[in-house]
Amino acid sequence: MAGAAGLVFDVQRFAVHDGPGIRTTVFLKGCSLRCQWCHSPESQSSLPEVMYSAAVCIGCGACAAACPRGLMAGGRSGPGQLDRNACQACGRCVAACNAGALVMVGKTARAEEIVARLDRDRMLYAASGGGVTLSGGEPALQPDFAAAVLRGARAHGHHTALETAGNAPWGSLSALLEHTDLVLFDVKHASGDEHLALTGARNEQILANLRRVSAMAGAAGAGAGAGAGAGENGPPRLIVRVPVIPDVNDQPGNIAALAVLLGGLPRVGRVELLPYHNFGVAKYAALGREYRLSSVPSPSRAALKGIAAILMARGLNVSIEGAGLDDPP
Ligand code: SF4
Ligand code: SF4
Repeated sequence: MAGAAGLVFDVQRFAVHDGPGIRTTVFLKGCSLRCQWCHSPESQSSLPEVMYSAAVCIGCGACAAACPRGLMAGGRSGPGQLDRNACQACGRCVAACNAGALVMVGKTARAEEIVARLDRDRMLYAASGGGVTLSGGEPALQPDFAAAVLRGARAHGHHTALETAGNAPWGSLSALLEHTDLVLFDVKHASGDEHLALTGARNEQILANLRRVSAMAGAAGAGAGAGAGAGENGPPRLIVRVPVIPDVNDQPGNIAALAVLLGGLPRVGRVELLPYHNFGVAKYAALGREYRLSSVPSPSRAALKGIAAILMARGLNVSIEGAGLDDPP
């Protein structure tokens, strides 16, 4: 759709963890899940929002003077107490902050602008087997914009990947798949009740969508890594990504259930285990939000290998963060 616009909160060049080769990852804002371990809390709201860094703030009070709604008390105590429900994301406080302590997260972008930016890295993609990945947030919640970017990228000869948590209507998700070479589908928990407790939503729609994507996935799915060509226009290949969070979703019962679930899908090119980390903690503070998993450690390599073995026993091809099991972490 020419001229489609969407809300984006980041565009990262030279990404190497979001599909094959060297990629540009476009992060769309807005998600229907609230995963407790999310390391991109700024991705969740579908509206622009202000992030505040107390470590950078010099307490000058310029933000308070600039806000037409009087939402900031000023100084170090101001932005931290920002009434976010009343904030209209006008950006005046951000513009007034010469210290760089305030950042507006979320900007409107047009699909053709994004595609034009991709063209700058054409040679890099060609040399590495890379391309563009849409991530989020949940790209399927902005289906017109996401489809326009994917369609445009393909028309320009770029390999396209879509990272999704799958919690969107099938019509929105399937509209993206026809322009997608590779789907990175996140699966977080096998139990609907646990999924609800951990993410704020049950998983029935997610699993139904996963089965549909798997049923249509390209037969060459096992080779969904390096060398996936652009513009093949066949069905997308499927990689399932499972975040591994100690004592949250790594219990033997859940891993066994995931093994049965994923092993029973028609086609899965690979399962990638994504070890939990708490790199996003500071972002929660910057958004005035509580982080609930601050005491949770990253899983050990041995634990990840144990989980991989259970999945491999079901015939699944498994990697850890995209690398082979015996590669150095
Ligand atoms: S974005 Fe606008 S409304 Fe929100 S706190 Fe800043 S100045 Fe006030
Ligand atoms: S304008 Fe920036 S540096 Fe000054 S008080 Fe506000 S956030 Fe802090």
